[in-house]
Amino acid sequence: MRTRLDHLVTAALQQGSAVPAFTCYDFTTALAVVGAAEDAGRGVILLVAPKTAGTSNGLRLIAALRGLADAASVPVVVQLDHATDLKVMADAVAAGADSVLADGSSLPYEDNIALVREARSVLGAGVVLEAELGGLAGDEDRAFGADEAGVAVAGLTDSAQVEDFVARTGAELLAVAVGNVHGKYKGEPQLRWDVLQDIAVRTHIPLVLHGASGIPVGELVKAAAMNVGKVNFNTELRTGVLSALQEQLPAHRADGENLQGLLGRWNTSAREFATSALGMLTR
Ligand SMILES: [Zn+2]
Repeated sequence: MRTRLDHLVTAALQQGSAVPAFTCYDFTTALAVVGAAEDAGRGVILLVAPKTAGTSNGLRLIAALRGLADAASVPVVVQLDHATDLKVMADAVAAGADSVLADGSSLPYEDNIALVREARSVLGAGVVLEAELGGLAGDEDRAFGADEAGVAVAGLTDSAQVEDFVARTGAELLAVAVGNVHGKYKGEPQLRWDVLQDIAVRTHIPLVLHGASGIPVGELVKAAAMNVGKVNFNTELRTGVLSALQEQLPAHRADGENLQGLLGRWNTSAREFATSALGMLTR
């Protein structure tokens, strides 16, 4: 069923839980994620990458995800992830996205604010906006292992900017950089709980943790207590699907080019991962 991202996340936080968001490059993964959410009886977020939304086929995928979300027995949100281009944002919303991450985190501070405000004026009040403050290291779509120096220094959100940023952007959710990275962590991830705590006391809007793949369960569970109501997963989902396909491909090829069976393995891998993420974020 259709829901607003801010309502879904706020309701979860009130129960001490967070809502997982999964990048869906394709419909098979989305079916698996929604199936896992229906089994768990929990809401979930389907993320669409900006590179996907920038193509006509990608916009058709968004329309298909919209249909999947509306027909689901649990609340499902379709969100355009990490968008910087206003036309891509508008196209994605027209195709059926509920929510947009207007990501100006790589821009100078004032330009970041301006981007979110422009997104609001283009998309209107009905579209839920996430904004991001403090650039995350790494690549959202491809995992190469993070650069050590960049992760520790460049990625942190400046908590002193949070109140001003939230007030002036009007964003409903705030993605933060607290030692989390996109892609693979080099060694053990070191989340800066002190910075997260500092951010959480300065704003009442829900916080978002990107790059959750690789962060230990024990750490993720603590995040909801600091108002982190949305946690984005991508790398681990891809790792699991690619491993399953690599392992199963020869047998399915030999079994009469059994693509349908192979897609079933894809679904199972994504569904198991989504089930475990839903479980670890739920109180
Ligand atoms: Zn991200």
